[in-house]
Amino acid sequence: MTAIKKIGVYTSGGDAPGMNAAIRAVVRTGIYMGKEMVGIMQGYQGMMEKNFIDMGARSVCNIIQKGGTVLKTARCMEFRTPEGRKLAYENLKEKGIDALVAIGGDGTFTGAELLSKEYNIPVIGIPGTIDNDLSGTDYTIGYDTANNTVIEAIDKIRDTAASHDRLFFVEVMGRDSGCIALQAGIAGGAEAVLLPEKDTGIDDLIGKLEQGVDCNKTSSIVIIAEGDKNGGAYNVAKHVKEKLGDSFDIKVTILGHLQRGGSPTSFDRVLASRMGYAAVNALLVGETRKMTGLKGNEIVLTNLEIAINHSEFKLEEDLLEMSHVLTI
Ligand code: ATP
Repeated sequence: MTAIKKIGVYTSGGDAPGMNAAIRAVVRTGIYMGKEMVGIMQGYQGMMEKNFIDMGARSVCNIIQKGGTVLKTARCMEFRTPEGRKLAYENLKEKGIDALVAIGGDGTFTGAELLSKEYNIPVIGIPGTIDNDLSGTDYTIGYDTANNTVIEAIDKIRDTAASHDRLFFVEVMGRDSGCIALQAGIAGGAEAVLLPEKDTGIDDLIGKLEQGVDCNKTSSIVIIAEGDKNGGAYNVAKHVKEKLGDSFDIKVTILGHLQRGGSPTSFDRVLASRMGYAAVNALLVGETRKMTGLKGNEIVLTNLEIAINHSEFKLEEDLLEMSHVLTI
């Protein structure tokens, strides 16, 4: 094993609050350890275009509190091809980058794993995605901030729902993962939560809403993950209206991209700092193709191929049951 001299760091896939805190931790840990650090702009796109910037400790000043990513992010189709990855590797080699820290989600790690295997370049992944859908960590960076953003919005919606006696369907992010929806449902006291992982029919939902009316509820909030099998909040609202007519005053709110933005919470900043520090240290002791994760309160490493295997990820059914009990 040759000693690592120059580490490249990049963010890729969807942006998540706390990515900047992770970049800062990676860069400063690397500098502290005597390594040269390079920021790769726009993830794999930057590898194709030699969009590299040399970074020092001061390059990452004043970013720990910022949402988004100063290294930018992009979706890069070319990198999915063997030819694209060959070009990426040649450009990394020309720049002298001999190890990588990849900050992103499962797509980012799939690409990192392939590049590392094909060209024997060490890589450590840091989970930066609001979806919290990776195995090997209890929390991904950005998830806590997104939950707080969602709950702030739901509290505001509840004010108007209660004032007008309305039924609100609120759609939150989560194409394949109901983590945000479930968390928002519990913390926001939602009457029902619809998730991609669970088939909840419209009749079940209506039963729950009517039960609420029987218990003298005058307004209700239903949280729907965007990947719910009924087809999102507008479709659910349409089906409920078809069956119930005007007995409920129904409104729909799609929270959309505002869930990705904003200043990271203290939790996400600390998590990102711990993971960035751990990622560089892992590289320097010869680890590769692993992802940093938080299990309990310990930072652990998990093989990338396990981390990206969604079948290992399980939604906490007991929380769903609890949410049901607490909203009678
Ligand atoms: P998020 O969970 O926020 O969507 P992500 O990392 O999963 O983040 P993707 O867009 O799926 O986001 O992936 C980011 C980039 O990783 C892609 O644009 C592509 O360049 C690369 N990538 C994804 N899948 C593959 C693959 N199968 N092979 C090679 N590269 C890939």
